[in-house]
Amino acid sequence: MKYLDEYRDADAARRYADAIAAAVTQPWTMMEICGGQTHAIVKYGVDELLPDGITLVHGPGCPVCVTPIAKIDAAIELARRPNVILTSFGDMLRVPGTETDLLAVKAAGADVRMVYSPVDAVKIARANPDKEVIFFAVGFETTAPANAMAVYQAARLDVPNFSVLVSHVLVPPAIEAILSSPTNRVQAFLAAGHVCTVMGTGEYYPIAEKYHVPIVVTGFEPVDILQGILMAVRQLEAGRAEVENPYNRVVRTEANETALRIMGEVFRVGDREWRGIGTIPQSGYELAPDYEHFDAERRFDLSPAPPAAETECQSGLVLQGVLKPCDCPAFGTRCTPDKPLGAPMVSNEGACAAYYRYRRG
Ligand code: SF4
Repeated sequence: MKYLDEYRDADAARRYADAIAAAVTQPWTMMEICGGQTHAIVKYGVDELLPDGITLVHGPGCPVCVTPIAKIDAAIELARRPNVILTSFGDMLRVPGTETDLLAVKAAGADVRMVYSPVDAVKIARANPDKEVIFFAVGFETTAPANAMAVYQAARLDVPNFSVLVSHVLVPPAIEAILSSPTNRVQAFLAAGHVCTVMGTGEYYPIAEKYHVPIVVTGFEPVDILQGILMAVRQLEAGRAEVENPYNRVVRTEANETALRIMGEVFRVGDREWRGIGTIPQSGYELAPDYEHFDAERRFDLSPAPPAAETECQSGLVLQGVLKPCDCPAFGTRCTPDKPLGAPMVSNEGACAAYYRYRRG
């Protein structure tokens, strides 16, 4: 298959690994942002091909993993109400809130539905005018255009029984938060290619310059990732801190203007809490004033969020690259995909789930 098989080619991967080994003269630590990249790295053993001096740590780019417990509790509270249909992507249903998850609430009789597109939630609302239909809108810049489009469509079609519970996050402020942390050990980033298909690469130039950090826009196949690592290593070894885009079969420098237009119409940037990390200023989307009447948190009287419970889950450290999943004491024992203690063990993009699936034992 063109544009896929050649990026999984074992000989090409070995050539890149050899080039990385030849380029390295000292230890370097780099972070892949996206959970999809983490899964590819662990699944294909990309990290095992690297010389000892290169350490890969895994970033916060798993949207389900960074959705705060308070938002999940709010979704659960809404789903339990009579006359409500709560919709979301499948991954979100198994993520634990304070006491339970949406799948358990569904099993107990609530009308919780998995959708593949937020626009499907609008269709459900139009087909059920006597119900309140809420879409739990989570994700990074990749899902934001479709989620914005669903709200825009609901406004244009005048669908009064549709609303969204928004927990959208943005990549560049998260990178800055990691780089500003006193515990930071990341010296280069592999940026998430799919985010850049929406946003372009322009947001990364000021970050690379301010923090003197190489940022390489990287795809999701093993050869893509090894190519990204090689380019990052060459920059680090040469003392350069630039934005490079080897994933140019997909990503352009310019943003997708159509996507930006709809996102700019429906959303505005605001402070956002990240699960396990805390609030990062100006790091998420919320509904713009003209669309606030679609905000489920405004429409429904929700209980105040309880104080955060103590838990042994160390997802915040995993998501910031401080801890590897297998270094968490609960990994594979008290925390498994069947009985997860934290979101990174649930999600298809979660680092703990990747290690459990491909690296256990
Ligand atoms: S292994 Fe489980 S408890 Fe540990 S950080 Fe990952 S999700 Fe949390």
